[in-house]
Amino acid sequence: MTLNLSQIDFNEKLFKFLVNSPTPFHVVQTTKKLLDEHGFESLDESDSWQLKPGHKYYVDRNQSSIIAFTVSENLDSSVGFNMVGAHTDSPCLKVKPNPDRLKSGYFQLGVEVYGGALLNPWFDRDLSIAGRISYENDKGDLQSTLIDFVEPIAVIPSLAIHLDREANENRSINKQNHLPPILCLTGKNENTNFNDIIVRHVSSNSSELKIKQVLDYELFLYDTQKPSYVGLKKEFMASARLDNLLSCFTGLMSLLNSDDSQSNVLVCSDHEEVGSASTSGAQGPFLKSVLERICGTGESLTRSLHNSVMISADNAHGIHPNFPDKHDENHGPIFNQGPVIKFNANQRYATNSDTSAMFKSFCQKVDVPVQSFVVRSDMACGSTIGPITAAELGVNTVDIGLPTFAMHSIRELAGSSDAYNLHKVLSYFYQKGSGN
Ligand SMILES: [Zn+2]
Repeated sequence: MTLNLSQIDFNEKLFKFLVNSPTPFHVVQTTKKLLDEHGFESLDESDSWQLKPGHKYYVDRNQSSIIAFTVSENLDSSVGFNMVGAHTDSPCLKVKPNPDRLKSGYFQLGVEVYGGALLNPWFDRDLSIAGRISYENDKGDLQSTLIDFVEPIAVIPSLAIHLDREANENRSINKQNHLPPILCLTGKNENTNFNDIIVRHVSSNSSELKIKQVLDYELFLYDTQKPSYVGLKKEFMASARLDNLLSCFTGLMSLLNSDDSQSNVLVCSDHEEVGSASTSGAQGPFLKSVLERICGTGESLTRSLHNSVMISADNAHGIHPNFPDKHDENHGPIFNQGPVIKFNANQRYATNSDTSAMFKSFCQKVDVPVQSFVVRSDMACGSTIGPITAAELGVNTVDIGLPTFAMHSIRELAGSSDAYNLHKVLSYFYQKGSGN
């Protein structure tokens, strides 16, 4: 397999996006920057909106979910939206409100597990911290800003095998006791605390931010290892947060590619990994409220939604050569063989035969192979924002995604030509619509 120039260029931008987006807040910040560069106008939910046909907009909620959309030139009340949905969050470790821990001469942070993280890979990595802090400035105003320590400032060392001879057979992780990362050694009379570490970091990086006191924060640990190609022929790409920044980035690039002939929507929601029930999550009112402001309420919205389609993009499980029996033998997605349509008889995925056929036809139009996934009948199935959006809005939905290994690990693996192939399919959808 050899990557062509367009694929190499696409992947380079994807790698940059991944590096610049260590937390959902940073995903939204990075996304806004690209939307700004492509002529999208920023909206605030608290303002009155005067949307114009042929214009492009975006709006965020909680700085961690974002909806970008184009308003088509021929906006009548029955025009449907071509929607792509993804999520901005990934399982990780979140710093606790009172995190300071002094143990055996080390300064550590108390952490909570966010979402269904695969915890073993978090050990022995060069970790950093990023997220949002909320503070009072020197004038007494409450403000917030995003921070990123960038450098590897923390580590969770494994226990040596000599001290746990059963490690390879029976190692289990106690989330309370085994996960606090080490930040530094601390002397007897030193008063190390996390609040001071934040203030020192912010003041050494920006002379404009005058912090009187940090009142709160949402800060997360992340792996500083950069994304990379892997494999003899660079068949694979490895990175943190491929679930689901692979889909956020691909959806975004496809939207940036589209013109104003269609009403296109990209929604990237926070809190999918913890159930989506939040003000900014897919189960909240964010998307519906934005659609109402574009096309109106009542019958207009109902007609529009009836003519709309949602492609819910979230990664799929590729069939693993060391564990082939974890898949149904006829439904084992393979890397670099195209996007995967996800099916579940019990509606854990929202795909139906019409939306699946539509997605397959898009793939055929742009000459991209397509695969199918259904979980083994004797195993439980995961879910996505697809069924939630379908149930909230009553919109026809297809659940799709790119095959990956090690989902929810700190370093996941995907095929290096799959994202570009999905970009071709989503670009077609955004340019041509669903055919309604
Ligand atoms: Zn996901």
